[in-house]
Amino acid sequence: MPSAKIYYDSDADLALLSGKQIVFLGFGNQGAAQAQNLRDTGIPNDKILIANRADAYADDAKAKGFIVEHDFEKAAAIADVLFVLIPDQVQPKVFNGSFVPHLKENVTIVIASGYNVLFKLLEFKSTQNVVMVAPRMIGSSVRSLYVKGKGFPCFVSVEQDGTGNALPVALAVSKVIGATKAGAISSSAREETMMDLLAEQALWPNIIMLFREAFNVLQKAGCSDEALCYEMWMSKEPAEIFERAAEEGFITQLKHHSTCSQFGQLRGALALDGVAARKHFEDTLYNQILSGKFSAEFSRLEDGLEKEGDENPLNELYRRADETELAKAEKRVRARLAGLLQ
Ligand code: NDP
Repeated sequence: MPSAKIYYDSDADLALLSGKQIVFLGFGNQGAAQAQNLRDTGIPNDKILIANRADAYADDAKAKGFIVEHDFEKAAAIADVLFVLIPDQVQPKVFNGSFVPHLKENVTIVIASGYNVLFKLLEFKSTQNVVMVAPRMIGSSVRSLYVKGKGFPCFVSVEQDGTGNALPVALAVSKVIGATKAGAISSSAREETMMDLLAEQALWPNIIMLFREAFNVLQKAGCSDEALCYEMWMSKEPAEIFERAAEEGFITQLKHHSTCSQFGQLRGALALDGVAARKHFEDTLYNQILSGKFSAEFSRLEDGLEKEGDENPLNELYRRADETELAKAEKRVRARLAGLLQ
């Protein structure tokens, strides 16, 4: 496979943003971090507008000295660059309903996740730029790394080049929020969404299932709930393993384990042919994700996901997950060892 192109600060020209009106739709996790980074890089405060409903997020933006607009239509009409930083599931309703009819013909729309673009849930005019600048970190890290003078991993792509200069603008946008400092990786909404959704819908479900079944087998073999919870995750050993994997290498980190553990892990992993897992991953990727089946189902559930109690389908899934032996045992252990866990 070809290597991805990596863009650095020297590839981007901030002059492209000079005099442009920047609008942030949303001042949450990513919005608050990216708006502050952008202002600290030198965009004047009077060229930044936070579009947000009148509530705590808007109050936070005002407290941080930003100009806030509650009327989305007014905000849309003046935007040269629009960052869409509200949750993915509400973007179609808010963006298509309140922004699309009022946006400039040559606006650059910046998304931080590929989902709604890949599944064509947002409406764009062919003259508009659509670019993805997608940090691979939560907002607090996007901000704290910037403050420390460091970069953060980020994907960048052009999804629609309406003006003919979408890539330079995407790179300027990446630089101004601090994303090209460590190198922004050229990607696409398709790639980003495939990786995100496959991890969410197949990789992590398998990991949850493997922990659940290992727990069940060991519990049946006589291990105590306390010992199991600590051994398997409360000691934070899995977190440490993944941290080492990120820092030193996915396989290299094994060298920190005992010889017996290294032998057991490598021998065990190489003996598993992975055929069933591969089939499951391929089926999820092609028949559930790329076919649009999941996205259609999720869109249908959208209203329910805002509801309280039993009517919310997510709450029903939590209820079922809480009935597993692993979850029930953990609840007992946490209640009993509350002091130890603080
Ligand atoms: P948040 O959940 O933090 O967004 C909160 C913001 O969205 C607030 O300003 C909130 O304002 C606004 N909002 C929520 N609901 C509505 C609504 N119905 N109408 C108008 N505004 C609304 O989002 P994130 O920052 O987590 O995500 C933003 C984008 O960034 C998404 O595309 C996400 O995939 C992407 N992303 C997120 C990452 C993360 O770490 N969370 C990492 C990388 C990308 P109010 O409720 O006041 O209206």
